[in-house]
Amino acid sequence: MKTIGLLGGMSWESTASYYRIINDEIKRRLGGLHSAQIVLYSLDFQGIEDLQHQDRWDEAADILVDGARRIESAGADFLLICTNTMHKVAGRVESEIDIPLLHIADATGRQIHNRGFNKVALLGTRFTMEQAFYRGRLEERFDLEVLVPDKAERELVHRVIYDELCLGSIRQTSREQFVGIIGGLADRGAEAVILGCTEIALLVDQKDTSMPLLDTTRIHAIAAVDEALE
Ligand code: GLU
Repeated sequence: MKTIGLLGGMSWESTASYYRIINDEIKRRLGGLHSAQIVLYSLDFQGIEDLQHQDRWDEAADILVDGARRIESAGADFLLICTNTMHKVAGRVESEIDIPLLHIADATGRQIHNRGFNKVALLGTRFTMEQAFYRGRLEERFDLEVLVPDKAERELVHRVIYDELCLGSIRQTSREQFVGIIGGLADRGAEAVILGCTEIALLVDQKDTSMPLLDTTRIHAIAAVDEALE
C-alpha cells in the first residue's frame, strides 16, 4: 500500500472527513484491521484565510509548499491538498515537490464524466466559483458546462463556508438556503451539483435534495484510496 500525504487544516473540520473516509474505505476494501498509511500535515487556517482575503496568494502558496515538502520528507508517496480553494496554488506546490499531486478537480471531473453529466453546477468559495483555476479546468479538461449561482447567492455560500462550516457550525437555516440555491440551479438546467468546497457535505446531504450531489471531499478521498492500492 502506498502512503497518502494529506495537506490539511483548511479547515480541519473537513480534514477530519478525509481521515475518516479514507480509513473507512481501506477497511471496507481490505477488511480486518487494515487502515490507511497516512502522513498528515495540518496548517493553521487563520493565516491562510487572511492571505486569501487579502489576495496574497503567493505568500499562501509559500506556506503550502513548506507543508508539502514536510509531507514528502516524511515519506508520503503522493499528495492531496485537502481543499478546493487552495488548488489555486496547486501548480506552485506541484512544481516544488517530487511526489505527484492528486488534483481535486481532476478526480471530480473524472467522476462527472463517468456518471455521464455534461452540464453541472458548482458551489464553493467565491474564489472557486468565480475564478478560472477550478471552473476553467473542469471546462477545458473535461468538456463540461459549469454553472454557478447568481452574485447574491455566491456571497451567501461564501459567507456560510467561512463563518459557519469551517468553524463547525451546522445550521438548519443555512441548509435550507443551500437547498433553495440547488433547486434554482436545477431549474437552470444543471444535471448535478458539485459540492466544490470540502466542508459543504457537512451541511447538505443527498437526502436533502433530488439533485445528484458530487461531494468533492469524498471523491478526492476515494481517489486517494484507489491510488494507494493501485
Ligand atoms: N475547504 C474549503 C474548500 O474546499 C474552503 C476553505 C479554504 O478556503 O480552503 O474550498
